Amino acid sequence: MAAAPPGPGPGDVERAGALMAAARRITVLTGAGISTDSGIPDFRGPQGVWTKDPAAAAMSTIGAYISDPEVRRRAWRSRLAHPGWDARPNAGHAALVELERAGRLHGLVTQNIDGLHQRAGSDPALVLEIHGTMLEAECLSCGLRTPMPEVLARVEAGEEDPPCPECGGIQKSATISFGQALREDVLDASVAAARSCDLLLAVGTSLTVHPAAGLCGEAADHGARLVIMNAEPTPYDPLADAVVRDPIGEALPLLVAAVTGGPAG
Ligand SMILES: [Zn+2]
Repeated sequence: MAAAPPGPGPGDVERAGALMAAARRITVLTGAGISTDSGIPDFRGPQGVWTKDPAAAAMSTIGAYISDPEVRRRAWRSRLAHPGWDARPNAGHAALVELERAGRLHGLVTQNIDGLHQRAGSDPALVLEIHGTMLEAECLSCGLRTPMPEVLARVEAGEEDPPCPECGGIQKSATISFGQALREDVLDASVAAARSCDLLLAVGTSLTVHPAAGLCGEAADHGARLVIMNAEPTPYDPLADAVVRDPIGEALPLLVAAVTGGPAG
């Protein structure tokens, strides 16, 4: 008879729930895995967009975007077709709204650009979009921000690469591309939320992209417990107090129910 494999087992949701119930200030870090149930594909997972199509990753490099008009035209077409426009928040997003209502959510740092936390009802003041948002366009010259649907309407009307209405500069979605600096105020607030929590819950992120992944170390260094919920192993699993591999849409509501005492789901 084979020995049980090492690593996470069926008891880990319970262990994670007990840690969550004991915590007072929970900071949550979310990645693509929480939005896949909403029909938005992961980029870096085994079936990820960038894993399967490196050309799509090149489109997200700021240098190529600025220097190559064809990259920009392709990027605008891809924004028009983004599955995020039809996406609805799912049970995972809803569970984090419940955690907030229970008074335990200290901060919500997300690597996602889809705005689904806010649409689910999370307080926008608590949501730190470390990789920006697809819901706005930003001028790379003057910084003007415009609601993305307004710019996409121009694309649909025939402008293949619509310039900034103020200064004529190149516009891009207000997301952080490869080679582009993160916004310092958002990063500072995220680090502060990680350092001042007593439990950090990382959900649906491979924890391979810094500085977001480094928030786990920041939290642990400042005495917080660490719970990781992700389908695949992450480099921070050895540091975690509990690791949950179960599907997020099922397991996250269970963890939050352990906090609120409410029904699961
Ligand atoms: Zn401009």
